[in-house]
Amino acid sequence: LHRNPGESEFHQAVFEVLESLGPVVTKRPDYVDAAILRRIVEPERQIIFRVPWVDDDSNVQINRGFRVQFNSALGPFKGGLRFHPSVYLGIVKFLGFEQIFKNSLTGMPIGGGKGGSDFDPKGKSDAEVMRFCQSFMTELSSHIGQYTDVPAGDIGVGGRELGYLFGQYKRLTNAYESGVLTGKGLTWGGSQVRKEATGYGTIYFLDEVLHARGESFEGKRVVVSGSGNVAIYAIEKVQQLGGTVVACSDSSGYIVDEAGIDVELLRDIKEVRRGRIDEYVERRPGASFTAEGSIWSVPCDIAVPCATQNELDEDHATTLAANGCTLVGEGANMPATQGAVRVFASAGVTFAPGKAVNAGGVATSALEMQQNASRDSWTFEHTDERLEDIMKGIHDRCAETAEEYGRPGDYVAGANIAGFNRVADAMLALGVI
Ligand code: NDP
Repeated sequence: LHRNPGESEFHQAVFEVLESLGPVVTKRPDYVDAAILRRIVEPERQIIFRVPWVDDDSNVQINRGFRVQFNSALGPFKGGLRFHPSVYLGIVKFLGFEQIFKNSLTGMPIGGGKGGSDFDPKGKSDAEVMRFCQSFMTELSSHIGQYTDVPAGDIGVGGRELGYLFGQYKRLTNAYESGVLTGKGLTWGGSQVRKEATGYGTIYFLDEVLHARGESFEGKRVVVSGSGNVAIYAIEKVQQLGGTVVACSDSSGYIVDEAGIDVELLRDIKEVRRGRIDEYVERRPGASFTAEGSIWSVPCDIAVPCATQNELDEDHATTLAANGCTLVGEGANMPATQGAVRVFASAGVTFAPGKAVNAGGVATSALEMQQNASRDSWTFEHTDERLEDIMKGIHDRCAETAEEYGRPGDYVAGANIAGFNRVADAMLALGVI
């Protein structure tokens, strides 16, 4: 704690992983001798930089940029960039730390990293976003590369931002190095299914959990928080599998639509027009908008938090359990607090953690890297099948590891231990570096 003062989200993420690793430490004294635990919590490199840019009124604006290159034992650093006013070192480090284990769980050759800025794209013109991205990449470009560090999107960083970032990288390096970023558009080196991958992958994982207990999404009532990239495609996939998503949200409040969220309408409002979620009720009679209160008070069988960290606390968890919810899967990174996770455990609600559930995004990014390296592009169907197989593999790896370490049904322990072991073995092989 004293080495990383004030970084509460990072402390939370580290604590949550270490809590699961007791049985591993007992079984593997060689990990302890090689100080794997002490090394894994220290990023290999952290870059913090000034991002100056000029707004539409000719005022100079200054933001802070971050890239935390956490662990490259398994492959180049890999993880998204987040643009949100709340971003500071503690958030980037928590996300980078989680990313190590998530990327390991995919079974693919990718290390863990994360970056971003306290820049808020909301309310900015396209020209302002472009100037900011160009300034951000001017510094970042010297620290990334297809064999070094491969950023992608996250909150506030979608196709528009990635386009401006890639354009500036190409200009600075005079190279069309497609493999330097993932989440690219289909006309400039991107992969089919990347946009849908985190949301679809989340639901594929939860579908496996349901199958394991002889159930399916058919007829289930589902609540999904958020209405961004992850939420939209999670909602779409639930509905394809026969479930009904009755509520979703953004930072201004939540909507309830008992007939099932109209995904096309939601996408038009949030993805195309970058509007607010209350516009949904103006165009869909029968739906309601609530600015106060919590989306977790809406009764459901399955809850899928897809907005941001710590959005679902102990009280929300108690309400969900009391309303009959039996499964919670984290589409976002660390949306449930530790108190909430404890409530789920004691109430018998199955809880699946983000580092396993939402790994489909980064897995498809790794597929994008494969396509870039071979200058190939796969069909939507082929890529979607690969994603589904990968998510089944992650589910089974978590379930089997939990079983092996005496914690059957505990997806948190399974994900943390399986993710950790693969990285620890690679670190051991590479020596003290
Ligand atoms: P987007 O920016 O597309 O959407 C984020 C959504 O969450 C928006 O609806 C936003 O509302 C809401 N939100 C963001 N911050 C807050 C906040 N502080 N309070 C309330 N609501 C908030 O991001 P993504 O969908 O890409 O990411 C969502 C989560 O999923 C994050 O935790 C991210 O790290 C994680 N994730 C994303 C992956 C990806 O591939 N994109 C991969 C793996 C994990 P508003 O529009 O009002 O801001």
